[in-house]
Amino acid sequence: MIMFLISSKRQPRGKWGLGRIQSTSGEQASVSLSNGNVMNVARTELLPANPDILEGVDDLIQLSYLNEPSVLHNLQFRYSQDLIYSKAGPILIALNPFKDVEIYGNEYVSAYRKKSLDSPHVYAMVDAAYNEMIGEEVNQSIIISGESGSGKTETAKIAMQYLAALGGGSCGIENEVLQTNVVLEAFGNAKTSRNDNSSRFGKLIEIHFSATGKMCGAKIQTFLLEKSRVVQLADGERSYHVFYQLCAGSSPDLKERLNLRAASEYKYLNQSNCMTIDGVDDAKKFHKLKKALDVVQMCIEDQEWVFKLLTAILWLGNISFLENDNENHIEVVNDEAVTSAALLMGCSSQELMTVLSTHKIQAGKDTITKTLTLRQAIDARDALAKFIYANLFDWLLEQVNKSLEVGKRRTGRSISILDIYGFESFQKNSFEQFCINYANERLQQHFNRHLFKLEQQDYEIDGVDWTKVDFEDNQECLDLYEKKPLGLLSLLDEESNFPRATDLTLANKLRQHLQSNSCFKGEWGRGFSVSHYAGEVMYDTNGFLEKNRDPMPSDSIQLLSSCSCELLRSFTKTLNQSQKQSNSPHLGALDSQKQSVGTKFKGQLFKLMNQLESTTPHFIRCIKPNAKQLPGIYDEELVLQQLKCCGVLEVVRISRAGYPTRMTHQEFARRYEFLLYEANTSQDPLSVSVAVLQQFNIPPEMYQVGFTKLYLRTGQVGALEDKRKQVL
Ligand code: ADP
Ligand code: MG
Repeated sequence: MIMFLISSKRQPRGKWGLGRIQSTSGEQASVSLSNGNVMNVARTELLPANPDILEGVDDLIQLSYLNEPSVLHNLQFRYSQDLIYSKAGPILIALNPFKDVEIYGNEYVSAYRKKSLDSPHVYAMVDAAYNEMIGEEVNQSIIISGESGSGKTETAKIAMQYLAALGGGSCGIENEVLQTNVVLEAFGNAKTSRNDNSSRFGKLIEIHFSATGKMCGAKIQTFLLEKSRVVQLADGERSYHVFYQLCAGSSPDLKERLNLRAASEYKYLNQSNCMTIDGVDDAKKFHKLKKALDVVQMCIEDQEWVFKLLTAILWLGNISFLENDNENHIEVVNDEAVTSAALLMGCSSQELMTVLSTHKIQAGKDTITKTLTLRQAIDARDALAKFIYANLFDWLLEQVNKSLEVGKRRTGRSISILDIYGFESFQKNSFEQFCINYANERLQQHFNRHLFKLEQQDYEIDGVDWTKVDFEDNQECLDLYEKKPLGLLSLLDEESNFPRATDLTLANKLRQHLQSNSCFKGEWGRGFSVSHYAGEVMYDTNGFLEKNRDPMPSDSIQLLSSCSCELLRSFTKTLNQSQKQSNSPHLGALDSQKQSVGTKFKGQLFKLMNQLESTTPHFIRCIKPNAKQLPGIYDEELVLQQLKCCGVLEVVRISRAGYPTRMTHQEFARRYEFLLYEANTSQDPLSVSVAVLQQFNIPPEMYQVGFTKLYLRTGQVGALEDKRKQVL
């Protein structure tokens, strides 16, 4: 008998190996390994391996033994042959190859379209979604998740390419939809320690189709752009690609008009000692970006404004402050940085310097001007830069959406593709992880509902005996986040409203009110833990309040609304009056009129979930086989941990335990009746179906008869289908 074995003592990382049991005595077994060695192992550490003929099957649920090492081994076997896609029941698993694999392009598109290829592939999944949209007139969604660098964005692009190819490919609206990726990646992606082209925002693109099944427009929504990256970088990481592209690729003319220098001269860019990316030519990318901006119909004037504001942001970062010796007060150094930024923004240097060094407070009828401390001045400068960038990003998206707008005759048919950050758990977890993991809880619930709840309901409604399979319900964790007034988000907002609140008072408040939720654990000092579906994460409240308030000094808003740059003025129009006049932001209270970042995100998420609820979902789980971003390396532990996080193992188990093949009695009878040796006298589809099942000796434990449908276990229709093909 062939066995997998685990040797936790000899191989401390818990690696699995393949071996054959030679003899057993008591609790011990003597196992010969494939390399010829023999070792003694506790019998409890042995698991059965699958027979050779199942080596590398393309759907994990076909495996006879579904233990973790078998799943891992099967994926690894496939990965070593560049078979990067596999199925786990309804889920598509995509392993990042970190190299070009020759399985894309028009030839493959038509092969999958014609079904001359049917191995697991993004194309196959998108094709199924497309067919369902056309055939059943139901909107579809493709939900892609995975950790940073696992291949979500590439997968989303591959899906879009398939849909574009159906309509003829590289012209018209199809090309426009594809080119939006170039624009959004320039402004929303950056090099991080995990991925050279990491998306720093979530994205949903809803692609619309005409009655003839051709792309006719699209709409893009984004979530939670990481603004802090504009002003602050970790070592070895970069800011958004577009800054480097602009510096490297703009013509001498444009450089002069903008007073633009090399990237290395800007503090916002040079602070992390990382200016370039291996194998990436920023200048070339800039030309591609400009072409893409043309394709999405952005006029030259608007493009110039965008470049102006980007340069203004870079100069803002170079503005420095002098501290007065005796007092704790500062003044702005009046140098080229100030004059350049002011010129590009369309205000006077003096106005800009005043806003960055003082703060006006309304006291009755009088206005008192206070000088800022160095910390406050730097925060005011950075807040201005972040505000401009975030609004520029939103404005760009708006322009892109206008150009993609679906014509007046909406067909109502669409496929949405969601590319969103997966679950994150680091050594140190902050507000960003807190939000990202919340989003993943919501998506996980959607996933659970779809796969498990609906499945069970189906069985029950149809009167099928279904021994309930327990599945993880994460409602408790969602309650922890969402309950009012005693949930994480509400308490965070409440604390954000207290000017004197600190990270520590926040942590205390959470501890005080949330202990009764079993997903919550108070930790020492500023910490708290949440039991997420994918594991426990410890958060540090450091910076939570500030990030949730996301303050923008009212003086700065007033300055922007008086700038001669129309674009900048338009950024302030969405803010309401009270916010423009508010006094508090420097002191740090949350504006009563302004939505906090957490609450806004929750709203976006609810909207997203509503949209997804009305579609048939298809799930793709991207897996990163190694953390080095290199081809050919398969880190078992890393893969296993991701398979757990995204629920793949659970799905495999449940799919096998159930009856994945379902057909109505009519469908089944219509499809297989002609295989009967003796014509059935009854017209009743159910008795025809049962006659077919009996003729083919399908054992009774392999199927169940419901009120409306037949339910078959994995692999059972295979024999019928084979026979059918022979006869036809
Ligand atoms: P994510 O969006 O999950 O953070 P990306 O989609 O940006 O990850 O992928 C990271 C990198 O992995 C890409 O830049 C590319 O080099 C590589 N990659 C991902 N998917 C593929 C693929 N299907 N073929 C080749 N390379 C890929
Ligand atoms: Mg991405």
